[in-house]
Amino acid sequence: EEKKSLNFIEQIIEEDLANNGYKKEELKFRFPPEPNGYLHIGHASSINLNFGLGLKYNAPVNLRFDDTNPIKEEQEFVDSIKKDVEWLGFKWAKECYASDYFQQLYDWAVALIKNGDAYVDSQTSEEIATQKGTPTKHGTESPYRNRSVEENLSLFEAMKNGETPEGAHVLRAKIDMTSSNMLMRDPIMYRTLHTAHHRTNNDWKIYPMYDWAHGESDFVESISHSFCTLEFLPHRELYNWFVNKVSTPEDFQPKQREFARRNLSHTIVSKRKLAQLVEKGFVESWDDPRMPTISGLRRRGYTPASIRNFAESIGVGKRENIIDMSHLEFCAREDLNKTAQRVMGVLDPVKLVITNYDKEEEWLEAENNPEDETAGTRQIPFSKEIYIEREDFKESANRKFFRLTLGKEVRLKNAYIIKGEDVVKDEDGNILEIHCTYDPLSKSGSGTEESKRKVKGTLHWVSIKHALKADVRLYDRLFTVEAPDADKEKDYLEFVNPNSLTTITGYVEPSLQTSKELDSFQFQRIGYFCVDKTSTKDKLVFNRTVTLKDSWAK
Ligand code: ATP
Ligand code: MG
Ligand code: MG
Repeated sequence: EEKKSLNFIEQIIEEDLANNGYKKEELKFRFPPEPNGYLHIGHASSINLNFGLGLKYNAPVNLRFDDTNPIKEEQEFVDSIKKDVEWLGFKWAKECYASDYFQQLYDWAVALIKNGDAYVDSQTSEEIATQKGTPTKHGTESPYRNRSVEENLSLFEAMKNGETPEGAHVLRAKIDMTSSNMLMRDPIMYRTLHTAHHRTNNDWKIYPMYDWAHGESDFVESISHSFCTLEFLPHRELYNWFVNKVSTPEDFQPKQREFARRNLSHTIVSKRKLAQLVEKGFVESWDDPRMPTISGLRRRGYTPASIRNFAESIGVGKRENIIDMSHLEFCAREDLNKTAQRVMGVLDPVKLVITNYDKEEEWLEAENNPEDETAGTRQIPFSKEIYIEREDFKESANRKFFRLTLGKEVRLKNAYIIKGEDVVKDEDGNILEIHCTYDPLSKSGSGTEESKRKVKGTLHWVSIKHALKADVRLYDRLFTVEAPDADKEKDYLEFVNPNSLTTITGYVEPSLQTSKELDSFQFQRIGYFCVDKTSTKDKLVFNRTVTLKDSWAK
C-alpha cells in the first residue's frame, strides 16, 4: 500500500501521540456548525477533515451545533445540516448543542465572577468599543471593572432573569486591557437578548458569546483537537484562558488548531451571504442547483463521493486560496462517468426522416454504462422519424466536421448507418427536415461487414413518436467574476450572473419515464443530468450537473 504523506493536521496529532502524552483512545473531534444557514462546499472541507480523522484514528466525532445566537438560528437549519452530513456519508458519535451547556456555562460564569475573573459592565457597546484601543495603543479599563463580587452576582442574575433591559449590561472577562492581543482586552462573555431560542425557548435572557461557549463545549465533550479556520488563530489564547479557568491541570484539555478556509471560484462560501441570495430572490432557495450549498449540489446531481473526493483532493492547508470551480466539476465528471447510466436525449432537435425505413418501429439494445459491466442493457425504440441535434447536421462541411452532411454517412448510436440525401426548408431557408437513407445491414452489434465500415461519426438521437418531452435546466456560473466578495468596497450581489439559468425543452428516450428524483444520467455526447425534485411522470425535469467536457478550459 502506498504511504501517503501526512498533512499538517495529521502531523499535529501524530506528534501529540508520540511525544505529548496523548493516548489514541483520547482522540475525539467535532464538526461545529452554527445553525444559521445551510452547509456549503466550504463546510465539506471541514466535515471531511474532522470525520476523516475520526475514520483514520477510529475516534468519535461529535456533530455540535454552535447555537448561541437565537436571532439567526432555526430548527430548519439544524435539520438540513444533519441531512447533509449524513448524505455525505458520515456518522457522528453524538449530536450535541452548545445550548445544552447553557446552565453549565452560567454556573462557570458565576464561579468566574466569584474569583474576580469576570464583571458586569454597564456601558454602551460604543463606549466599550472606544475603550478597546488599537493594536498599538492600550485599551482603557471600564469604570465598572472593579465592581464588588456581590454587585456583579446580583446584576448577572438580574440579567439572566430578564430583569434588565436588553443591551443595558454585558458580562466581561477581566483579563488585561493592555494585552497585545485585542481579544484578551476584557472580552464579552454574555449579552442580554430577550429573544426566544429554537431549543431553549424563553428560558434564557442572556446568551454566551462564541469564545466563551466554544472551548467550554469542547471541554465538556472531551474533544482532543478542535480544528477551526485561520481567523480564529488570535482567539486561541482566549480559548486557552477560558478552558484554564474552568478546569484543573489534571483535566484533559482540548486543543485548538487552525487550518485555512477553502474558497471556490465564481461563487461565495458564507452562509450569511448565501442567505442574501435567497432572501433577495437571486436564487429560488437554499437548494437551488446554482447554489454552492451541499443541498444545492445534491439537487444539481453531485454525488456524495464527488464532493468527498473534491475535499480530499484539495486537502488541508495553512494559507487561504481559491479553488477553481472546474476542479469541483472535474470531480463530478469523474464519479458520474463510473456510475451514471447512459441515455439519449436531444436538446436542440431537428427532424430526420429515414425515407427507406418501412417498419412501424423496432426496439434496439443499448448498453447502460460501458464503464460498469454490471449495469446491463436496455431497449430503445427506433422508427422512421427521429430527432437529432440541429448542430449535428450541415448541408456541406469540411473534412473536420465529423457529423452528418449530404452525401456522407454517419452512425446513429445503437442503431444503423445513415446517409444524408436531402433537406426540406421553409421560405426563410431554415431546415425543417433532413432526409436520409439507412443501410438495413449495418445494425450496431450485428457483426456484419456493413456494420463495421468506417463512417464520419456517431450521433445520438431519439425516435420522435416515442420520445418524452422534458424541461431541461442548463446552468452557468452563479457569479461573473472569480472572487465576487474579494473587494470589500463592492457589493458581491453586483456580480450575480443574470444568465445563470436557461430552461429549454428537450426530448429524451422513453426509458426515462420511470426516473426518480436524484437519478443521474449521462445524456450521451452532451453531459450529466439529474432528475429534479419537481419532475413528474407527465413533466420530466432535468438539471444539467455538468457538461461532458470542461467548456471553460481554453
Ligand atoms: P459561514 O461564514 O459560512 O457561516 P462559518 O465558519 O461561520 O462559515 P460555521 O457554521 O461556524 O460557519 O462552520 C462550521 C465549521 O466549518 C467551522 O469549523 C468552520 O471553520 C468550518 N468552515 C466554514 N467555512 C469553511 C470553509 N470555507 N473552508 C473550510 N472550513 C470552513
Ligand atoms: Mg462560525
Ligand atoms: Mg458564520
